Amino acid sequence: MSGGENASHERTVLGGAAARLAVEGGAPVRASLLPYARQWIEEDDVQAVVDVLRSDWLTTGPRIPALEEAVATSIGIAHGVAVSSGTAALHAAAYALGVGPGDEVIVPAITFAASANCVVYLGATPVFADVDPATLLLDPVAAEERLSDKTKAIIAVDYAGQPCDYDALRRLTSRTGVSLLADASHSLGATYHGRAVGSLADVSTFSFHPVKHVAAGEGGLVTTDRDDLALRMTRFRNHGIDVDHAQRTAASSWRYSMVDLGYNYRLSDIHAGLALSQFGKLARWLERRRAIAAFYDREFSSMPCVRPLETRPGVEHAYHLYVVRLDDPGWSADRQTVFTALRAEGIGVNVHYLPVHLHPYYRTHFGTAPGDCPAAERAYENLLTLPLFPGMSDQDVGDVITAVRKVAARYWSPVA
Ligand SMILES: *Cc1c(COP(=O)(O)O)cnc(C)c1O
Repeated sequence: MSGGENASHERTVLGGAAARLAVEGGAPVRASLLPYARQWIEEDDVQAVVDVLRSDWLTTGPRIPALEEAVATSIGIAHGVAVSSGTAALHAAAYALGVGPGDEVIVPAITFAASANCVVYLGATPVFADVDPATLLLDPVAAEERLSDKTKAIIAVDYAGQPCDYDALRRLTSRTGVSLLADASHSLGATYHGRAVGSLADVSTFSFHPVKHVAAGEGGLVTTDRDDLALRMTRFRNHGIDVDHAQRTAASSWRYSMVDLGYNYRLSDIHAGLALSQFGKLARWLERRRAIAAFYDREFSSMPCVRPLETRPGVEHAYHLYVVRLDDPGWSADRQTVFTALRAEGIGVNVHYLPVHLHPYYRTHFGTAPGDCPAAERAYENLLTLPLFPGMSDQDVGDVITAVRKVAARYWSPVA
């Protein structure tokens, strides 16, 4: 990622015929599509899974507490509870907080649908709150405006990997007796004023989907300092049963009681073995994610055509996503056109996310509508996610810059 490399990219892009867009019949910047995110599996990860397959335990074995302890220790929190997905983690966390019929839960408009769906699973109502347009993080003032005497919890989403304004959210929740649930699916390894994400809310959830920081295939984990919540979630993942097979074996007993209505949200040891192996590489991978993001930041600081999201002081960003806005008035093309042009160049751009309250399900069943969260809706119109994952080579990163320059050269010019 040297300056010399950029200079040569510039020549290619500005060099006459070479600048013809792939979407208009020119040669693409890349022959193969660079995805926006990708897992990184090495031989030792493969071996970790094979070891599980050769062991006595394919599920509810020793990898589960090992993974739970590794994550909880790195965060500096009492409990980790491993479950079968990030969505199951959200469901278990909201359940443990006592969310139920008649309750309202405040959810930011810009997030993956699962952040709101977990509220609906429990018979409660998600109430969408607007985001800060500079960061797309839940705006604490907007959250406060949505509070009612039915509000049970606030779900904070660390969008793109940047921790929310937890001090402001904590002040709000402790003043009102509302619980704080952090959907930290994007922010494993991030810190907020020196404190690790996963320790900033009553309960925090993570995802081990392959596009996230650590891959299990499918998997999730919840962290909390509260013993009561950890116990409720441990039961919830296993049908609401009070003891697991290991405890029954230890007690030489077949007896168990189902004390709550739970689900089968257990994580298998096959998945946990992979996640555990991957988790050991998190620090190194975060460094690479941050280096790529810093490189993008530097490049885009001289390109007004794309405007990266802002990062707040005092946070260490985990960069699950690198998101830019195409809101400069110099664009003569809309976001769809730019998106299609970049895809044709071999750059797997994406959009995160359609505001959840605009999905047909929520409009039909909860009466949400355009206008509910204007900052989120405005931002959505020109969001673009660029590829960012630790396995990207310097060449891959350079290709992204080259393609953005090439597309901007065609569709953007400075406004006087
Ligand atoms: C990925 C994600 C989830 C769901 O995680 P799964 O492991 O895919 O179930 C929830 N919330 C957010 C914000 C996510 O990005």
